[in-house]
Amino acid sequence: MKPEHFDTARLHAGYDPAAHLQSPLVPIYQTAAFGLGDTETAAAITAGTKADAYTYSRVGNPTVRAFEKRLAALDGGTDAVAVGSGMAAISYALLNVAEGGGRILAPTNIYGASLDEFRTLLPKFGIQFDFFDDINDLTTIKSLLRPETKAIYIESVANPSTEVADIAALAQIAHAAGIPLIVDNTFPTPYLCRPFEFGADIDVYSSTKGINGHGNVVSGVVIDHGQFDWNNGKFPQMTEPEFILGDEAQHKTTSFYSEFGSNAFINRIRMKYLRLFGAVMSPFDAYLALLGLETISERLSKEVQSATAIAQYLTTNPHVKHVYYSGIEKDNQLVKKYFPHGIGAILSFELAGDEEQVAKVLDNVHVFTYLPNVGDVRSLIVNPVKVTHREMPQAIRLKHQLNQQVLRLSIGLEDVQDLIADLDQAIRQAFVLPQE
Ligand code: PLP
Repeated sequence: MKPEHFDTARLHAGYDPAAHLQSPLVPIYQTAAFGLGDTETAAAITAGTKADAYTYSRVGNPTVRAFEKRLAALDGGTDAVAVGSGMAAISYALLNVAEGGGRILAPTNIYGASLDEFRTLLPKFGIQFDFFDDINDLTTIKSLLRPETKAIYIESVANPSTEVADIAALAQIAHAAGIPLIVDNTFPTPYLCRPFEFGADIDVYSSTKGINGHGNVVSGVVIDHGQFDWNNGKFPQMTEPEFILGDEAQHKTTSFYSEFGSNAFINRIRMKYLRLFGAVMSPFDAYLALLGLETISERLSKEVQSATAIAQYLTTNPHVKHVYYSGIEKDNQLVKKYFPHGIGAILSFELAGDEEQVAKVLDNVHVFTYLPNVGDVRSLIVNPVKVTHREMPQAIRLKHQLNQQVLRLSIGLEDVQDLIADLDQAIRQAFVLPQE
């Protein structure tokens, strides 16, 4: 049976117990390599003509494969490649699309490490970025397109402002220019938003966050919608002869596009970037991520409810200057269109105080944990400017109101009244006058 609905798919998709001694959970194939059997079987496996065969865990592993297939099903994609971190997913996707030189359009209000990579590292690999500050300024975004532009990259819900992108409008702009829209959909997860339904071509995730949900594994995944035309002349890496796909003895050459058609992108990620750059997800980590994924719907539903209540409480706190949680913006049409079940568990707020008072809040929380992660079942707090977004230059931060007073929260599964009470007492302590 092919699971049709999300809650069935998160438990069953991409795995057949009958092929694994009827084990209901995906077994952990904790092995570096797989026996090739006899030489005839080995020849079929290495030629890629034997289905569901594995050789070496950098190229493929059954536990990791089940995670990939499950994520592809949940996201509505044709296939997925799991990698060792969200950053590896982003790096591989962008290198694969703009390899050998090219430009990418990207917003500036994104996760700090992503921005750092785009500003300071990928240009050294020949990939240049044209940045825009406002994700919904479509006129500016269009004006930045050039013949060498290879993709538009966005975060569906920005870290940490939670600003929401108009995915369908951006996909239209990208497609009119013959390039794909790549979406970092980490904050909402496929439970709250499936960008492919609005025209996105490639999704990337840090599955370290809400997909796993338990803060115990760093991992990432690239997912392909399988709809983009890689044969439009802009992506020679997809259509050039590829040695590993051909057969030297038979003088046969072939390309990723002629071999895989609209799935060229994801197969190239696996066969070039995962196999050769090597940031694999381990089988044990895939097992933990699959286990966490089993409860994604219940986790996210409660976390969204609690995040909404906390955002509303913060708007009433006199020591809070601004709350950043687009989920409570009643007139936000993009939230209505893309996030009918909520934008996710992450929000930020600006304390109406100084840096010392911000430190006091962080030092006085007891239920919230002060650490740089999101999407955990435990509630987390962090000061982005000093930790998660320290790579973002001040000039860019200030354009997005990301100052030293902003604190980011990731809401977990604790009782919401305990979370509100914890924040309330920590903020109160920060504003106690010295003589009190
Ligand atoms: N994308 C977003 C939106 C993130 O918040 C993060 C990490 O915080 C990443 C990507 C990178 O993920 P990882 O830490 O798994 O490499």
